[in-house]
Amino acid sequence: MRVCMGWFAVLVALMAPLSGGKTTAVAKSMEKIPFGKTPDGGSADLYVLKNQGGVEVSITNFGGIVVAIKAPDRQGKPGDVVLGYDSLDGYAKRSGYFGAVIGRYGNRIAHAKFSLDGVTYTLAQNNGENSLHGGTQGFNKVLGEARDISTKDEPALELKYTSKDGEEGYPGNLSVTVTYTLTNHNELKIDYTATTDKKTVVNLTNHSYFNLAGPGGDILKHVLMLNADEFTPVDAGLIPTGELREVQGTPFDFRQPTAIGARIAQDDEQLKLGKGYDHNFVLRSRKPGSLVLAARVVEPTTGRALEVWTTEPGVQFYSGNFLDGTIRGKGGQVYQRRSGFCLETQHFPDSPNHANFPTTVLKPGERYHTTTIYKFSAK
Ligand code: BGC
Repeated sequence: MRVCMGWFAVLVALMAPLSGGKTTAVAKSMEKIPFGKTPDGGSADLYVLKNQGGVEVSITNFGGIVVAIKAPDRQGKPGDVVLGYDSLDGYAKRSGYFGAVIGRYGNRIAHAKFSLDGVTYTLAQNNGENSLHGGTQGFNKVLGEARDISTKDEPALELKYTSKDGEEGYPGNLSVTVTYTLTNHNELKIDYTATTDKKTVVNLTNHSYFNLAGPGGDILKHVLMLNADEFTPVDAGLIPTGELREVQGTPFDFRQPTAIGARIAQDDEQLKLGKGYDHNFVLRSRKPGSLVLAARVVEPTTGRALEVWTTEPGVQFYSGNFLDGTIRGKGGQVYQRRSGFCLETQHFPDSPNHANFPTTVLKPGERYHTTTIYKFSAK
């Protein structure tokens, strides 16, 4: 029920009327295609954004999911560089958070509890005793209200969702807007804004799993740079201990570009706890709210490269350790362990329970606004 009431699908004024199941042009550089019915009967659409650089991004208003990103390799050959499903059903019925907007709170909240002004809020325990990625039905499984906000130069999609006071245990009616702009510099720019009518916590991100080699490629050979001097070590439940630990001298030092697989199997306590990389990296400080280069990844066989820029203080580097071959994704591909990696720009996991972490509290009258840019190129 909540799904239907959530991200309402709306047709914008400049769209031609839909004619049963046919592709409908909504702007020169954006197409709208019916994507299927949600489990409770809502209609989801797929918006295909194309730019002048040969990049194509498909986004559905269900969960704000980035379904596909087709980016050229060094020969100009396009390849889909994100994992996911062929149809809405996979996204609605299976887990994995492929490509989705994560909210109201990205990553874990310990014991599924936090307090604000002396009131304790209890969330769903959907990851052992902890709460993960917004709870039982996070923003990844709700339908958004879509609007084409393309300019004559760049396709752009706006999605709106109102998360009700008490939804998944969080206080306050939270009005969320996520916009996706595909620039002619081959950037997918995601802006997240939110306002609330009661003090709450917010931490929004995108959960795309990348594989720049294209379907079936090896992520361990991708060469990664992370612009972080510190990371937040975790306990056995993947909850930060509160420490900010220097990466210097550890397998978490990606300040010089290093293959993801180079040290992943090392005998290291934190790698063992994460079953690989599943950690928040503390991005090098800069002016709050300004964009910083968080990560650069290069895939040597295709030459495809990805830069991640963000206004957020952290990035979760997750090496797909929990993919276990039980998910059949696009084109029938079986997603084995580490067949994709995520770079989730964010505030730190479990911040509501760590006073020393940058705050995730949003108060009435304030406006939450973060920006993340995924920039594709080929070398
Ligand atoms: C988390 C992983 C989790 C994954 C779910 C990541 O953001 O850090 O621990 O398994 O999301 O897909």
